[in-house]
Amino acid sequence: MNPLPRHDHYIAGEWTAPAEGGYFASVNPATAEPWYEAARGTAADVDRAVGAARTAFEDPRWRDLSQTRRGRLLRNLGDLIGEHAERLARTETLDNGKLLREMRAQLAGLPEYFHYYAGLADKIQGEVIPGASRETLNYTLREPVGVVGAITPWNSPLLLTTTKLAPALAAGNTVVVKPSEHTSASLLALAPLFEEAGFPPGVVNVVTGYGPEAGGPLTEHDGVSKVTFTGSSGTGRRIARTCADRLIGCTLELGGKSPNIIFPDADLGSAAMGVIAGVFAAAGQTCVAGSRVLVHREVYDEILARVTARAATIRIGDPLAETTELGPLAIAEQLEKVESYVELGQAEGGKVVCGGRRPETGLDGYFYSPTVFTGTDNGMRICQEEIFGPVATVMPFGSEEEALAIANDSAYGLAAGVWTRDVNRVHRMAARLEAGTVWANTYRSMSPMSPRAGFKTSGMGTEHGTEVIREYTRLKSVWINTSEEPAGDPFILRS
Ligand code: NAD
Repeated sequence: MNPLPRHDHYIAGEWTAPAEGGYFASVNPATAEPWYEAARGTAADVDRAVGAARTAFEDPRWRDLSQTRRGRLLRNLGDLIGEHAERLARTETLDNGKLLREMRAQLAGLPEYFHYYAGLADKIQGEVIPGASRETLNYTLREPVGVVGAITPWNSPLLLTTTKLAPALAAGNTVVVKPSEHTSASLLALAPLFEEAGFPPGVVNVVTGYGPEAGGPLTEHDGVSKVTFTGSSGTGRRIARTCADRLIGCTLELGGKSPNIIFPDADLGSAAMGVIAGVFAAAGQTCVAGSRVLVHREVYDEILARVTARAATIRIGDPLAETTELGPLAIAEQLEKVESYVELGQAEGGKVVCGGRRPETGLDGYFYSPTVFTGTDNGMRICQEEIFGPVATVMPFGSEEEALAIANDSAYGLAAGVWTRDVNRVHRMAARLEAGTVWANTYRSMSPMSPRAGFKTSGMGTEHGTEVIREYTRLKSVWINTSEEPAGDPFILRS
């Protein structure tokens, strides 16, 4: 048997073997076969990468680059990603099982993130504050924070790295990325494009490896000034504690258990498709999965019938095939987790009306059928805990107040969907739903321009949009006394 291809870390623009010499295999979830090995990073590799990023941060080639030129590099990178889109899309499909069709669409949009922040790079600025006196000039400088440590999950590696990388670079930082141990390949495939785009070596570095072995040391490293993390709420809490001890900032994009709420006056066909898109697209492995479907009693039976009918015909199989609608779960542990939640839901009294099993696909991968539960109560664990798989609970409600109460009865607050033709109701719901994103008559829309934040245990801080620049900059206040008058009483505070 041929040995698997091996990938090293990407540090200071060079492929760098792991300090302790270890590698680990990554599995293609459609076939359950290992297909490459990545370097098993440890504290020594992180130290090297942070050192390279720190050096690059102080290198005049990066530090003194005009903001407009910085933007141009981001634009170049976006363009290069466009040129390499097919290769990057295929790599990610092989690594996490996401449909190639969906990856192609994602890659078609990815350059826009870099282009958006390319345009923003030279609009990052301080301001002049009205001085307390005519002789005082007080202004602010919005400066990069330094080296950013970025840690990402397996469900959308390139997209979720981009949402961190593009604004962090636009603001003038340097970055060390630690991708998920399950999906290092697409970021490693992207890495050489950083220098090709014109970024000096060390501005972006990639260290692969396991969370505690490589991610932990990255959050603990003295040279890291800011951590940005997307992943589970449990890991997010641990990272927040480390950052609190170090008194550095962290941005956290965490889990969700989002409600998708259907009122009787909605376009029921579109609403049913919105439910399918919300919880079965990407096999439910999206942080914003609309896994709690709340349906008004008047249309409950009809929506349930439409959703289960479509769910039962979803084509499951090879994510590379054009006709496939649902690929595998990305990792074996996730399949086991989904199975155990389906068992738990039944033990709690829920009824599986569709799916609830591993389908026949002719492939050895981690496939699971789209599953719909009825008879669940929002207090049950399957309605409160994130499953991160193709499992929906469909629950009835009788009034707007009741829908809001159920929707907001969650530790999470990432996203929510509302389906209604009543524009007043849309506004009322949007104002009262405890979620960072509210979609009305659509689901899963996103854009680099629109801020994205998790409320409650779904996160801390904001990504996307212009607001994210605050996450990657620090504000300095500069005071200048322009007066020629001799200094006054030193024991009295001056303004
Ligand atoms: P995870 O928390 O297990 O891992 C995420 C990353 O953290 C990985 O790179 C992992 O290696 C690293 N990590 C693990 N332990 C660590 C530690 N002790 N110190 C530092 N790093 C560590 O999450 P996952 O299973 O990869 O991803 C799924 C989760 O991500 C879900 O909860 C999902 O909702 C969430 N997610 C959130 C968003 C969002 O925007 N809010 C987007 C996508 C995914």
